[in-house]
Amino acid sequence: MSELTRLDAADIAAKVAAKEVSAVEVTQAHLDRIAAVDHAVHAFLHVDTDRALAAAKAVDDDVAAGRPAASPLAGVPLALKDVLTMQGAPTTCGSKVLEHWQPPYDATVTQRLRAAGVVILGKTNMDEFAMGSSTENSAFGPTRNPWDLDRIPGGSGGGSSAALAAFEAPLAIGTDTGGSIRQPGAVTGTVGVKPTYGTVSRFGLVAFSSSLDQAGPCARTVLDAALLHEVIAGHDPLDSTSIDAPVPPVVAAAREGATGDLKGVKVGVVTEFAGDGYEHGVAEAFAAAVEQLRALGAEIVEVSCPSFDLALPAYYLIAPSEASSNLARFDAMRYGLRVGDDGGHSAEEVMSLTRAAGFGAEVKRRIMLGTYALSAGYYDAYYGSAQKVRTLIMRDFDAAFAQVDVLVSPTTPTTAFKIGERTADPMAMYRADLCTIPSNLAGNAALSVPCGLADGLPVGMQIMSPALQDQRGYRVAAAYELARNAAQGGPLINRVPELEVAH
Ligand code: GLN
Repeated sequence: MSELTRLDAADIAAKVAAKEVSAVEVTQAHLDRIAAVDHAVHAFLHVDTDRALAAAKAVDDDVAAGRPAASPLAGVPLALKDVLTMQGAPTTCGSKVLEHWQPPYDATVTQRLRAAGVVILGKTNMDEFAMGSSTENSAFGPTRNPWDLDRIPGGSGGGSSAALAAFEAPLAIGTDTGGSIRQPGAVTGTVGVKPTYGTVSRFGLVAFSSSLDQAGPCARTVLDAALLHEVIAGHDPLDSTSIDAPVPPVVAAAREGATGDLKGVKVGVVTEFAGDGYEHGVAEAFAAAVEQLRALGAEIVEVSCPSFDLALPAYYLIAPSEASSNLARFDAMRYGLRVGDDGGHSAEEVMSLTRAAGFGAEVKRRIMLGTYALSAGYYDAYYGSAQKVRTLIMRDFDAAFAQVDVLVSPTTPTTAFKIGERTADPMAMYRADLCTIPSNLAGNAALSVPCGLADGLPVGMQIMSPALQDQRGYRVAAAYELARNAAQGGPLINRVPELEVAH
């Protein structure tokens, strides 16, 4: 493998700016790596070779002409989750219903990446419409975890995180509705961040659950995630839920964390999740990480958030309810697939045949569940109660953040499970998001940082911050990352086994 694919994003950008390497060379090295290993990993649904090289060339032209870099990530390759639109490339959302559909416009996130000189390599695999925790719900086959190809890379954004762990890209974009950035980050040994809801535009992000969906950065280091965060975040009038506030200073916080200790920082350990039981190796790695935070000077306290126990059931009413409404737009008329349009069927029949053929089992399950939860007579009992729980969870966070600066927990209760192990049991699959869902329901910031291995598989620590205080998590994560690397002989990601290369 080319050494260029081992570099962090910050290093790549510095070397490109200093003319030590060209953006085209860096991009070609990653395209070669994708050609060599993606047959085994299947992180990508679409590789955008020509345009990636053209975007890299444009960065090199800027450097040659002495023009200032478009951003601190100019010339860095990135993998984009296939739920964000990008003009001229397919956007499938992992679904047959959108196979071959090409959006006529760029998502705001895509546009910001392009304007920053980031090189978009292609679109990554995901659970259909971002519903799942393993990418096994992709209509185009699962992605495999580079740490162990028989295991899942998490979901729904497993393609984005697997691309990082396979050194196919140094940066990726994910989206997180209930944990789809953080849980894949945890099980692939990479960093994944869900920014505060409303700080990254949802324009051009195909909606699953609009009140929960949030795009965010995926990277192999905390600093790289912060650099990407600042490229994609910011107010957007095209998204009515976008917050018109300054982007939290996450890059400065990541740099500060990497130089300092954590004296004066109060860290709360959430007691509720543990009641449900973490896998032994996860509990051990997390406990060691908390000790590391203490050694860095942080004050550690236990914090009870009693309503967090209700987060999972509330999420599985709210998210399907919103999905049942959002996915109504896939009606065989406006986008993608159309089945039975042979003159012999009515418009309604075409719609129904198309949805029956185009949606997978999990998507249908959610649409039915959501339609039921919203139906007259059940609305108050289900959707209404879930919304009340949501308020209780927000109050728990408010009370917790009155006592501590950040909250921590394992990101997910287990390490990467085997492909096929949970496909027959939706409840077991849903439990992967036990610890991540509260932050989606409350809208606050949360990230996952690698915190060790259990039986050779990565474990993630989740760090939760109050809304619009995303920088707190970055500071703690960066300080922890540095200390852990020093204590454990370098970054964990260097221990991903070599993948077999195609010739
Ligand atoms: N795994 C959760 C679900 O299936 C979360 C998915 C997500 O964050 N997009 O809904």
